[in-house]
Amino acid sequence: MDRDFRMLIDGELVDGATTFDVIDPATGAAFARCPKADAALIDRAVAAAKRAFPAWSATPIEERAALVSKLADALETRAGEFANLLTSEQGKPLDQAMYEVMGSVFTLRAFAAMRIEPKTLREEGGNTIIEHRTPLGVVAAITPWNFPIILLMNKLGPALVTGNCMVAKPAPTTPLTSLLFGELCGEILPRGVVNIVCDQNDLGDLLTSHPDVDKVAFTGSTATGKKVMASAATGVKRVTLELGGNDAAIVLDDLDARQVARKVYGGAMANAGQICVAIKRAYVPAPMYDDFCDELALLAKEAVVDDGSKQGTTVGPIQNKMQFEKVKALLDDARTRGTILAGGTALDRPGYFIPPTIVRDLDDDAPLVREEQFGPVLPVLKYTDIDDVIRRANDSDYGLGGTVWGKDVARATDVAMRIDSGTVWVNQYLAIDANIPFRGAKQSGLGGELGEAGLHEYTQAHIVNAVAFADA
Ligand code: NAD
Repeated sequence: MDRDFRMLIDGELVDGATTFDVIDPATGAAFARCPKADAALIDRAVAAAKRAFPAWSATPIEERAALVSKLADALETRAGEFANLLTSEQGKPLDQAMYEVMGSVFTLRAFAAMRIEPKTLREEGGNTIIEHRTPLGVVAAITPWNFPIILLMNKLGPALVTGNCMVAKPAPTTPLTSLLFGELCGEILPRGVVNIVCDQNDLGDLLTSHPDVDKVAFTGSTATGKKVMASAATGVKRVTLELGGNDAAIVLDDLDARQVARKVYGGAMANAGQICVAIKRAYVPAPMYDDFCDELALLAKEAVVDDGSKQGTTVGPIQNKMQFEKVKALLDDARTRGTILAGGTALDRPGYFIPPTIVRDLDDDAPLVREEQFGPVLPVLKYTDIDDVIRRANDSDYGLGGTVWGKDVARATDVAMRIDSGTVWVNQYLAIDANIPFRGAKQSGLGGELGEAGLHEYTQAHIVNAVAFADA
């Protein structure tokens, strides 16, 4: 790629201490270089955010929101460029990349329109108690590689509107769209309000334990989330953790097996299955099981698995080699325990391609059922009793999302009420909206993002309790 990328620190685009390769997952070859920070550059970025905070937090919210809207406009104007870069670094097909970029624009605009009004808690007998919400200070935003740009916006939008400053650190395998967005921030925002730094999975801990970071907004795996929480504990920092999931789809017996299979397929295979709330295991009534599995296999075989930048591609590569190896190991194990109806082996070509794979006849304790596969591989399990299948769906340390499918919506909703997850969708999947709170139950997260509740997460209560001066 014939352009350079720089980090944004204190309003300036700066080189790293070193650089590293960014790999195109469709070829397995390097296509760009990324600047890498060191401890001194992380310190500089945090110091810049800290310096910017007093003026930014004192700026009227209407002005801050107007600048966030301006960022949305600038992103929309260059959406094509962002989508192409996203496909190159992440692998997803171009139409899905464009969807992510436009979703990012929508998210910024949604937050620019949100306000938290002071809340009068008491006004009686000369006593006025008002709850104000004040910003926290410097937010470290740490993001993963599956949705690099929109997951940054989920943090940046609410953080900036509420008056915080930010140091953002993207995942090392997908840093470029964040750096490109940093260029927009450099043009539009006062210096230091947003800083973007890169690492190779080695500087996150410096950020989360930094004494001048007040909040950590983290999206990533549950294993790393635990480390983030431990590290943030030293400063009693605020944390929000958006972590892993192993979402179950429960199909009820009043639907046509093949019709519902088509919907479930979409929820499992979008973004090559690399979605925290992808359908990661499907439970189907015994009489529908064979037809459901066969229809999924048909769809899997029809998929166009190729470079995401090629017109017509429906499933792109796995984003990085480590994840590719992990999915392959799960497949090797599943092959010995169940029946693979479609896919099952990596494509014999450069890049990290695994075709959509449907596995049936696995036990509940198979690793592909218990673990988060994060790839285009769906295990399908049989059930005969609704109470038992709800127990099986809930038998997981995760509790991020889930779906229930049924013609009788009231009955499906009753089942959804019994799934122990932050969000359960009925007859739809992935209906995430910047205006609706999103958060994980159990080990899928702590606190959350989006909606007004997500805005609150970037503030603290400031209670002012006043009475008239009493003459002694
Ligand atoms: P990861 O945990 O490996 O990495 C996430 C980020 O944390 C990266 O930027 C990484 O550099 C950084 N990091 C690594 N070590 C760190 C440390 N010790 N301290 C601080 N930061 C550190 O996750 P990933 O593999 O990039 O992403 C996939 C995971 O993210 C999946 O489990 C997926 O379910 C989850 N995810 C969750 C949500 C959600 O909203 N709940 C959304 C998307 C992805």
